Amino acid sequence: MSFTDTREILQDAADRRYAVGAFNICSLDQSSALINMAVSIGSAILVTIPAVIEPYVDFAELGAVTKCAAEKASVPVGLHLSHGTDFGSVERAIDAGFTSVMFDGSKLPLEENIRLTREAVRMGHSRNVAVEGELGSLGGSADMMTDPDSASQYVKETDIDILAVAIGNAHGFYKGTPKLDFERLVHIRNAISSRKNVFLTLHGGTGIPDHDMKMAISEGITKICIYTEMCNAGKNNAMAYLAGNPEYQGNYDVPELIKGISSGFADTARSFMEIFSSKGKSGGSGVSTDQLDIEEIKSIIHAVINNL
Ligand SMILES: [Zn+2]
Repeated sequence: MSFTDTREILQDAADRRYAVGAFNICSLDQSSALINMAVSIGSAILVTIPAVIEPYVDFAELGAVTKCAAEKASVPVGLHLSHGTDFGSVERAIDAGFTSVMFDGSKLPLEENIRLTREAVRMGHSRNVAVEGELGSLGGSADMMTDPDSASQYVKETDIDILAVAIGNAHGFYKGTPKLDFERLVHIRNAISSRKNVFLTLHGGTGIPDHDMKMAISEGITKICIYTEMCNAGKNNAMAYLAGNPEYQGNYDVPELIKGISSGFADTARSFMEIFSSKGKSGGSGVSTDQLDIEEIKSIIHAVINNL
């Protein structure tokens, strides 16, 4: 499948009502670990990198590693820049072959956010790269969430491809159970519905209850960002290895630590792909029984019986 345009990946998710996981990484080995996992379960994937991690990961190297892994993959793989806050990181990501970039002007006043996002869109579209923008403040109170009327203006004036919404979601671990404002999500979706092919994304996926994820997908979210829980799983694996191997074990400690972290990332991503219903949607030869959940099987059996 090779590298796939992020818009193409998200269009399939929109058409078939599932969401694509956008999984943040912070080292090169995590990119191939995630792609291998996505192949193993037949799911499209967006490997994403937050701009703030650029000092640790060279964008050009990441682009090369991801492209190399993607070319061997039987599923669509996109590479996305998350939370670019300046044109420099956006430009470096575009140069490195990323299939989409985010320009995050959400902390700016609306007019300024529109002006700068429009410029980022110009940069992206001139190289056929999709651009994401954000409107509203993640983790803020109701009056800081995405306003549907502003969303309509923002989408129209910037020409973005992907809109990150603030509907009660936040980065990091939530204090208590997050409460998503689905009514607001529906209003946002309706407000931008006259513009074709603008995809909605939800940041801060860690800690959102499974049924709320599924509800968000049914109301039009096609991309969900995950990082915190992957980091936590990777850290736990590394700590378990250290606890189980208190003595220096020779040359194998560091590789085992790296493996533990990247497998923590991949295992966590796999469980989210199941929740997002992206598992089994790409690659392979159709849907096998292990990709159907028991409720789906029951409803199919009932439908058959009722038609007899
Ligand atoms: Zn985010």
